[in-house]
Amino acid sequence: MKLNDCVVIGIDLGGSAIRLSTVAGNGKLRYSKRVDISGRREKKYIIASIITNIKELIAIEKSRGCQVIAIGIGSPGIIDLNRGVVITSPNFKDWKEVRLRTILQKALHLPVVLDNDANAAAYGEKWKGAGRKVNSLVCLTMGTGIGGGIILNGDVWHGIDGMAGEIGHMTVNPEGPRCNCGNTGCLETYSSATGMVRSAIVSLKRGKGSILKKLSNGDNSSITARMIYEAALKGDGLSTEILAEAGKYLGIAMASLINILNPEMIVLTGAVTGAWDLFMPAARQEVKKRAYNVLAERTQIVKGKLTDSAGIVGAAGLALKQIEI
Ligand SMILES: [Zn+2]
Repeated sequence: MKLNDCVVIGIDLGGSAIRLSTVAGNGKLRYSKRVDISGRREKKYIIASIITNIKELIAIEKSRGCQVIAIGIGSPGIIDLNRGVVITSPNFKDWKEVRLRTILQKALHLPVVLDNDANAAAYGEKWKGAGRKVNSLVCLTMGTGIGGGIILNGDVWHGIDGMAGEIGHMTVNPEGPRCNCGNTGCLETYSSATGMVRSAIVSLKRGKGSILKKLSNGDNSSITARMIYEAALKGDGLSTEILAEAGKYLGIAMASLINILNPEMIVLTGAVTGAWDLFMPAARQEVKKRAYNVLAERTQIVKGKLTDSAGIVGAAGLALKQIEI
């Protein structure tokens, strides 16, 4: 295959936007599009929009003498990898058993790879990001929720159904708060943006003093993780505690991941990593306390390098990998 004439398309299907790019064989993004879908989330509209925008990118590449040869798409939710089906998705309530891979293949006459969005991000960081030089890593995408992807021997570890790596739903406190997944005390309930906001509201309701009250004008529903971060930077005690608590539970999860998998690297990515300096000391302390020393010292814990393009690059990489086999 002459990769200089051929490109793939990587797609990140997010809650507020579909982001897609043509990606060269060396992992470089070429032409990118971002389609805002915050106002419209019906299945028909989203799928039609994905197809239209892919066709547009195909036409742009064609006019430059390049051919799109495959498509990779990372989607949140529960994915049946073998059948290429999105079983459910937290972002799109009317998505049940959507045969996304078949629909796109039929509409575009190209090979399509569908994977979980966090697996795609993990593969992106392995292929062209922080994990380029390692063979095994665990990637955590820390945003509204916490996604996870595991790379072993250079490949995504999918598990039997393609659902491995749900690290956000690792129990870190059996007595903890209820999670959307039905469990209690999942990592996500403490260390995601939503989890931190939840912790803040619980403490404020218990009467804890904080400048968050002023920043939110007394309206708890307007508190955001960014607000907590900014309050912590101003020396707010409660916000500092919440970030340290998020770090502590992240550290508990990472210690288990290190002991179980002995990975070369843990890559943390997503918006929450903007508060790195405020949660990482507690996380590192917890790892040191709980993981086997030899393993903990071996594992590098680093920030992702591809920031918000990890999912697109990874989806493209997975598509490329599939057709090269
Ligand atoms: Zn959960």
